[in-house]
Amino acid sequence: MPDSHDDVRPRTAILTRGFDPKHTFGSARPAVFRSSTYVFESPEAAEHAFAIIGGKIKPDNGERADLIYARFSHPNAEILEDQIVPLEAGASYAAVFNSGMAAIMTACFTYARPNSTIVYTTPLYGGTTGLMHSFLEPFGVRGIPVAAGDTEGIEKAIAAAQNCCIVYVETPANPTLTMADIERAAAAAATHPDKPVVMVDNTFLGPSFQHPLLLGADIVLYSATKYLSGFSDMIAGIVLTKSSDMIQKIRSRRNMFGNILPPDECWMLDSRLPTVQLRMNRQSKNAQRLAEALKGHKKLSAVYYPTLFTDPEQKRIFEKQCAFPGGIFSIEFAGGRPPAFDFLRRLRIARNAVSLGGVETLVCHPKSTTHSGMSPQELAESGVTDGLVRVSAGIEDWRDLLADFEQALASE
Ligand SMILES: *Cc1c(COP(=O)(O)O)cnc(C)c1O
Repeated sequence: MPDSHDDVRPRTAILTRGFDPKHTFGSARPAVFRSSTYVFESPEAAEHAFAIIGGKIKPDNGERADLIYARFSHPNAEILEDQIVPLEAGASYAAVFNSGMAAIMTACFTYARPNSTIVYTTPLYGGTTGLMHSFLEPFGVRGIPVAAGDTEGIEKAIAAAQNCCIVYVETPANPTLTMADIERAAAAAATHPDKPVVMVDNTFLGPSFQHPLLLGADIVLYSATKYLSGFSDMIAGIVLTKSSDMIQKIRSRRNMFGNILPPDECWMLDSRLPTVQLRMNRQSKNAQRLAEALKGHKKLSAVYYPTLFTDPEQKRIFEKQCAFPGGIFSIEFAGGRPPAFDFLRRLRIARNAVSLGGVETLVCHPKSTTHSGMSPQELAESGVTDGLVRVSAGIEDWRDLLADFEQALASE
């Protein structure tokens, strides 16, 4: 560990914390440590490391066990975990996973108990919905869904939940960007006798524009596949928290499941962190220019974007909770699926692909792809119509993107 860098701002700390060139022959960038196993200085040191990892002795605040075996941890995971912490306001600890779903499932399995309930906002990411319905419910963990934008409904659902283990919030929701009030959900959880753990999937606006840990959440979850890695070339997930007890519990599940992010991927993701804020700022500006320019287009019945919200509750949450509106927006074609598909076919710069958060603009038709597993009722409730197209703005020049969108909209 280098000297403490608590005295610098996050954008600086990302470059100064967590890695000391002295440990790698002076290399300016970390080496990649692919070793599966680590040599102990003495048999006593081995015993001590196992006692920590096995939970027999409590490490001092923040102390890590000596490295043992790369399924538990390895130097590139530790460097990445130390470097990512300053990016998430309010966080003290991180754990890295080999996908966003691995991070989500490990956090849920750490706190779910048989015969308990999870209150969650809808719509959720498809994989997370599947985890709730196909996996947790058969294990006796009942999911209680509540619409993301219904702040009072969320409070009531939490207050009424029996044996509640987790409150799970995803905001803004995909693909209509409906927002949930994190602070009110966390306050409701804090007064519940079961003290449910509040988790927020912050993939869409974090770490730059939304800070759930400052609003009372316990755990922040990421698909680092999206904005954090930013180039659509890797899969990764992160858990962040201010609680050393929580991170230890989650890491011990990760030891068991074997879903830590491997060294090469940690090294890659590590190199993307210093530019997250630069990329997200540009993506948010591009999305805002496009969404606002497309609003009112004669072929479109709606444009979904936080600066265009009309519902007073949604406006209130956005203004209170988010620093910027972010890089995602959705457009809805009045004519339904045929003009939406024509639009996707005609785009020349933006590419038709699922996923989001990369430096290149990606566009998809949620109803037939990312959201095709939803029931007709879930589709209707979450606003996923035949004419809906989701856009993840990249960092291209926005004027070229707007020209591309306009030509793809113009035909006939
Ligand atoms: C992509 C995504 C996930 C899942 O992440 P993976 O890295 O694909 O496992 C979870 N939540 C949200 C909001 C996502 O966009």
